[in-house]
Amino acid sequence: MAFAITQNCCNDASCLSVCPVNCIHPTPGEADFGKTDLLYIDPRSCIDCGACADACPVDAITRVSRLTDDQAIYADINAEYYQNKPALAQWDPPKFPPAAVNDFARFDVAIVGTGPSASYTAQALLRVPTSRITFYDKLDVAGGLARFGVAPDHIGTRQISEHFRSLFVHPRVTMKLGVEVGVDITHEEVHRRYDAVVYAVGADSDRPLDIPGIDLPGSVSARTLVGWYTGHPGVRTDAIDLDGIERVTIIGNGNVALDAARILTADPEDLVGTDISSHALAALRRSTVKEVVVAARRGPEFAAFTRSECQALVSRRSVEVAVSGQPEALSVIDDLPISAPASALQGVVNYEGAIPTTKRRIVFAFGRAPVRVNGTDRVESVDFAGATTVASDLVLLAIGYRGTPSPGLPFDVERGAIRNVGGRMTDEDGTTVNGRYVVGWAKRGATGGIGDNKVDAEETVDALLQDLANNPPGPKRRLPRVLARKV
Ligand SMILES: Cc1cc2nc3c(=O)[nH]c(=O)nc-3n(C[C@H](O)[C@H](O)[C@H](O)COP(=O)(O)OP(=O)(O)OC[C@H]3O[C@@H](n4cnc5c(N)ncnc54)[C@H](O)[C@@H]3O)c2cc1C
Ligand code: SF4
Ligand code: SF4
Repeated sequence: MAFAITQNCCNDASCLSVCPVNCIHPTPGEADFGKTDLLYIDPRSCIDCGACADACPVDAITRVSRLTDDQAIYADINAEYYQNKPALAQWDPPKFPPAAVNDFARFDVAIVGTGPSASYTAQALLRVPTSRITFYDKLDVAGGLARFGVAPDHIGTRQISEHFRSLFVHPRVTMKLGVEVGVDITHEEVHRRYDAVVYAVGADSDRPLDIPGIDLPGSVSARTLVGWYTGHPGVRTDAIDLDGIERVTIIGNGNVALDAARILTADPEDLVGTDISSHALAALRRSTVKEVVVAARRGPEFAAFTRSECQALVSRRSVEVAVSGQPEALSVIDDLPISAPASALQGVVNYEGAIPTTKRRIVFAFGRAPVRVNGTDRVESVDFAGATTVASDLVLLAIGYRGTPSPGLPFDVERGAIRNVGGRMTDEDGTTVNGRYVVGWAKRGATGGIGDNKVDAEETVDALLQDLANNPPGPKRRLPRVLARKV
């Protein structure tokens, strides 16, 4: 009886190097890596040693015989990945991080940000024994979205923060929290002080939706909701008011939309003991929300959420899940293969319209492109193309995060990311900016889960080490005394 990888998997590939029979795929270097929801274990080759389960930082790997009823589907999902691949396939050998490099003199790197990409960058740099790292973060609490993004009920995924915390207290690491680079200290000053600077600043604004009424009171971004329920220091405790709200419409259908739908329909008692903020828990206890509509612009075959997130939503007994929108949506869903994200909706009910009176309900509305938010003093309804109107007391915009330009840093407006080639920062004209690097969402744009930042960080660190090897660091200039005291 093999092991299987389940919902918590964040694709960080930590399990690959410990598997004695190379039966976990896709690996970095294989075409699918970074494109699948999870990694998968080949049940035909797994020898049941359990090494991968011990290595996984988020407890995503379980013996198939111990999967709970809700997890049982993951045995099939893992097996399905190998369906058309020969048993004991001649996979490419797995690629492991390069061994520690010992021939560097001491060098100092500033990492701006303390989220997942910053942490994986530090992890890779600390393999070099002569490295020294200083983290800067504008917040007083380290962790980025691993702390203020990942939903509080994703307890397994949030465990990754424990792993990252061990880096923050590493003897060769210094933490400078509550310091915004570009505001409290200039980019040039940081650059002067360190041999290299890695920007891991994420993407901290919303992709805009330019439709009439989107700025009405009662229309907020899912980013604000997420900050509110995770206790982000920059989001007011009263930023979300659920009193008197019955139907919430979420515009967008990515995983953040599903997080929002799940939290808004959760039994608050199930959230007790998680990292949810106390003000959000109190508001959810008073909440009158009965229905959350998740509006997707396209059909179920183009769903933007991942299968595992949808699965987590559907498997809750306390909430009804329904599908509305295009008349053919349910039959399209029924025909989807098990690997398709929306196949998790197979067997859910057809939406019948009225606000539910017993169980709370989540409605997936496919083929619904929003054209206007209506209301006089506040949101009352949303119009979708094709003359459909959905009465709504609260509208959440969840169409994605986006980076914001910081004066002094070259920014690619189209991608919403800092300009770079393979992690080396580049100028407007494509010239490399010496000593400055980019990683994570700031490098790729706001896309990908926590684990995707690991391979990404290794690429940036490889570039950084290569440059240091070619051009060993010179003497660094100290900060002026008054500034040094502040940072
Ligand atoms: C709501 C939400 C839920 C998610 N849930 C999951 C999940 O369950 N599983 C999963 O695998 N992935 C999840 N993700 C994706 C995951 O969070 C990202 O892949 C990851 O956080 C990106 O890491 P990052 O380090 O690039 O950015 P971030 O995590 O955003 O970190 C950026 C850091 O930089 C700091 N910073 C920014 N500007 C400055 C400055 N000028 N000076 C100093 N500090 C600065 C910020 O304060 C922040 O700490 C989620 C994303 C969101 C938005
Ligand atoms: S249980 Fe052992 S053999 Fe099976 S996938 Fe995990 S590490 Fe590989
Ligand atoms: S989270 Fe990482 S270690 Fe755990 S199963 Fe996924 S890829 Fe493997």
